[in-house]
Amino acid sequence: MTVGGSTAPSEATFGVINPATGEVFAHAPQCTKQQLDAAFEAATKAQIEWKTDEALRREALLKVAGVLMSAGDVLNPIITAEQGKPLSQSAIETMGSALWCHYYANLDTTAQVIQDDEHAYVEVQRRPIGVVAAITPWNFPLILAFWKIAPALLAGNTIVLKPSPFTPLSSLKMGELLRDALPDGVLNVVSGGDELGAWMTQHPLARKVSFTGSVQTGKKVAISAAPDLKRVTLELGGNDPAIILDDADPHVVGKALFDAAFANNGQVCSAIKRVYVPEALHDEVVEVLVSHANAAKVGDGMLADSELGPINNRPQFERVKELVIDALNQGATAAAGGKAVDGSGYFFEPTILTGLSDGTRIVDEEQFGPALPVVSYRHLDEVIDRANATHFGLSGSVWSADADRATQVATRLECGTAWVNTHLALAPHQPFGGFKWSGLGVENGSWGLASFTEIQVVHRKR
Ligand code: NAD
Repeated sequence: MTVGGSTAPSEATFGVINPATGEVFAHAPQCTKQQLDAAFEAATKAQIEWKTDEALRREALLKVAGVLMSAGDVLNPIITAEQGKPLSQSAIETMGSALWCHYYANLDTTAQVIQDDEHAYVEVQRRPIGVVAAITPWNFPLILAFWKIAPALLAGNTIVLKPSPFTPLSSLKMGELLRDALPDGVLNVVSGGDELGAWMTQHPLARKVSFTGSVQTGKKVAISAAPDLKRVTLELGGNDPAIILDDADPHVVGKALFDAAFANNGQVCSAIKRVYVPEALHDEVVEVLVSHANAAKVGDGMLADSELGPINNRPQFERVKELVIDALNQGATAAAGGKAVDGSGYFFEPTILTGLSDGTRIVDEEQFGPALPVVSYRHLDEVIDRANATHFGLSGSVWSADADRATQVATRLECGTAWVNTHLALAPHQPFGGFKWSGLGVENGSWGLASFTEIQVVHRKR
């Protein structure tokens, strides 16, 4: 672990499993309460200087980006070993992390002048919040950390980061690699189980909690942060609908639909999790999706030809199995896949389910895995209601030959990002967050930066 710029030795450790084998391949440190206190104290101390010099922070972020750009050979195999995704996709995480640092290093933060007249000169300035407790999930262990680190550091905060116990190693290694790029204590990286996350959200020195994970845990985080009125950003789960309009060509949209549903083996908060298709197009859309599912090469992410890796962990693997079995028991058909791959590791066949509707668990819940339900509809108004009839509201997409028509439909979706003829198009300048139970606040862009600041009005009387 990295605490105050140095290695914090671990007394106890826990095993980290390679999901491609199902075997423990490394051990990660179990942070003690005392070590967590030391991390928050180091972050508090470091913030005193760190918050004073924005130019230095921008320079440091560029240094961080540089370190990440040249650290692929070290970080990518770690991400693949602990997370399961193919090496080429781990490389995208590492490069993406650098891109986020680069973006924030160059983002304009000029204060807004809201009054300048004979009475007063009034500026809205932004001040850092303090120490950020950053908690991340296992699907994108590195880049989701940088969605927090890059804006939090630019704003003048310091950080204690805790990755998921399923994928702690890439964050721990990253903390080590960045020790020379950042002043001691600015970025502390600790690891441990879920209880460590709870200690962080309760910690009296944390002033902001930036959390990415499940709805269930997000609610606990909100409750835990409330007594101290800690600022909270929650990026939670989703059950993204993709609505195909009747003029769409299944052969034009099919590959993009498949990719957005099966990216990272379906383990993306804003992956397509249910497809709504007009009855007349149902069979053709299914046929195209099935052809892509059957062609996708499932295998160990370390092997060059693997396109989809394993599911990340045993509980998630069991959950996907359970949801698919439930759908099949309710009368659904597996038009592709439908079961786990024989052998070791948490591999699951890319699965396309048909003959099911809303009310089936895999349509109503977040499956977070390589199994996609395709549901038919008759009337557009009705399907928009069905798409919105959920506690989730992360994102969604509408697909059509007529982009204007699709845009009108997309804006009726109750979600943070409404895509047209695409899905999963994310970028550092584009705010990302969820309606309803999918989150609180946003990350990315100037809006994401703002969430790591307090507003300070400086009002000068003339
Ligand atoms: P999770 O909620 O189980 O765990 C997330 C993190 O929270 C882990 O680091 C975990 O150790 C920690 N944690 C667990 N209990 C805690 C507690 N009581 N207090 C504080 N921290 C605690 O989620 P997961 O299974 O790791 O990730 C999958 C979920 O994350 C999915 O629902 C997915 O949709 C969501 N997700 C959302 C986004 C987004 O940006 N909206 C991105 C990726 C993943």
